[in-house]
Amino acid sequence: MSSIAQLLDGKALAQKMQAALTEQVRSLTPQYGRPPGLAVLMVGDNPASAAYVRNKEKACAAVGIASFGKHFPTETTQEELAAVIDELNQDDRVDGILVQLPLPDHLDSVALLNQIHPDKDADGLHPMNLGRLVRTEPGLRSCTPYGVMRLLEEYGIDPRGKKAVVIGRSILVGKPIALMLLDADATVTIAHSRTPNLSEVAREADILVAAVGRPNLITAEMVKPGAIVVDVGINRITDETGKSRLVGDVDFNAVQSVAGYLTPVPGGVGAMTVTMLLHNTVWSYQQRFQR
Ligand code: NAD
Repeated sequence: MSSIAQLLDGKALAQKMQAALTEQVRSLTPQYGRPPGLAVLMVGDNPASAAYVRNKEKACAAVGIASFGKHFPTETTQEELAAVIDELNQDDRVDGILVQLPLPDHLDSVALLNQIHPDKDADGLHPMNLGRLVRTEPGLRSCTPYGVMRLLEEYGIDPRGKKAVVIGRSILVGKPIALMLLDADATVTIAHSRTPNLSEVAREADILVAAVGRPNLITAEMVKPGAIVVDVGINRITDETGKSRLVGDVDFNAVQSVAGYLTPVPGGVGAMTVTMLLHNTVWSYQQRFQR
């Protein structure tokens, strides 16, 4: 008889962390004379991005972080955005700046991300913060991989000595999560679109992280019995009934009878990402006052 994987409940941990952050902000605000501040910059009308930005601002309000968000029309120029980032870099009320990706094609997103002051880089994507991650120095960590590590920790899963396989090598998820698992003493393999025999590689994993963006890529045959499976993918599909819904990269129903632990989508990694953004903003805020 097969058993059912224990769910890694990102939503519950996110709620618990947000309650703790609310308390922290409540006690620090009178001490520092202002609340923490986050500026989310959005350009254009991508509906998914607009929903993400709304979520982030709602979460900020709930924990007592002031929002300095700005929404720009699609035709906004690189120079205009660069000037806004410069202003926010100087603004003493702002501890975190985030550019919601993707940006319209005429904009150079890397140049804009690089212009954010590393101390206000709430998404942890500035080369300085990525460099700190590579060097295992303290710094702002990118939210999704950081959320995965926090979720593993919550369930007492120590990567030390485990074999981890990360599928996906993006700068946003795959690469930073591989580095974080390495720092936690896992033996790490990074697989990607050019990896031959993906199934065999995946089946070696004690910790399998899927960060690809393809529904049902990870089947039950690719999972070692008892493995910890972390599903980072977020894919919108239309199901058999014609309804639109979100799924991850993992064939959830099949894999849950093989894996030991599994993150649901939604309610797993995605729920942690916004919380880690709030965590990073409060961390930057404390760093500014403790310097
Ligand atoms: P990306 O497109 O930048 O990278 C995808 C990676 O998958 C690439 O490195 C590629 O080599 C690899 N890949 C593609 N096809 C493959 C295949 N057939 N087999 C093996 N590897 C393959 O995407 P990303 O920004 O890293 O995001 C990955 C997924 O994670 C997406 O679904 C995205 O929506 C989701 N995501 C979720 C969160 C969250 O909060 N949960 C945050 C960011 C991204």
